[in-house]
Amino acid sequence: MIENNGKRPAAFIDRDGTLIEEVNFLSSVDDLQVFSYTAEALKLLKDRGFWIVVVTNQSGIGRGIYAETDMHAIHEAMQAQLGGAIDAFYFCPHLPDEGCECRKPGLGMINFAQRDLAIDLERSWMIGDKRIDVETGQAAGIGSALVLTGYGLKHLDELLQAPDVVSENLLQAVERIISSEPLAAEV
Ligand SMILES: [Mg+2]
Ligand SMILES: [Zn+2]
Repeated sequence: MIENNGKRPAAFIDRDGTLIEEVNFLSSVDDLQVFSYTAEALKLLKDRGFWIVVVTNQSGIGRGIYAETDMHAIHEAMQAQLGGAIDAFYFCPHLPDEGCECRKPGLGMINFAQRDLAIDLERSWMIGDKRIDVETGQAAGIGSALVLTGYGLKHLDELLQAPDVVSENLLQAVERIISSEPLAAEV
């Protein structure tokens, strides 16, 4: 693990279409499908000392489609399937037009994470399947990676500014990201 005054880089990762199969307004654990490679991708990041931080827009809560408790149940099921690999979940429950600061591409969730965890922002990345994910990373001044799962293929053409990485899926994105990192010192 590379440490910088005790700080570690973070992989800010979108949930739907990136870590798990995209389901429109996923509300039930029954419909949760973690991608087959997600555990491996998170392990590679953890081995390199990254915080694993999920940042997810969940306007289904604000729209009354599902309750916050439904979402937490999904997050618990994800953790169970992934061996507790996720260090923190941040979610925005608001509607797109509410003007909150947390909804991506706003930086609220990244700011909350920085308050809670010792994050080396300069070496951090944002990974997701939508234009707003790429824009969040760009606005934060960190690396940005678009995955082509979920909405990725559709959003590839909508990008105003190219991300640092475009990859078929999360595992390939992570392989690119860690190969751009300096090698970890033996501990
Ligand atoms: Mg997504
Ligand atoms: Zn919000």
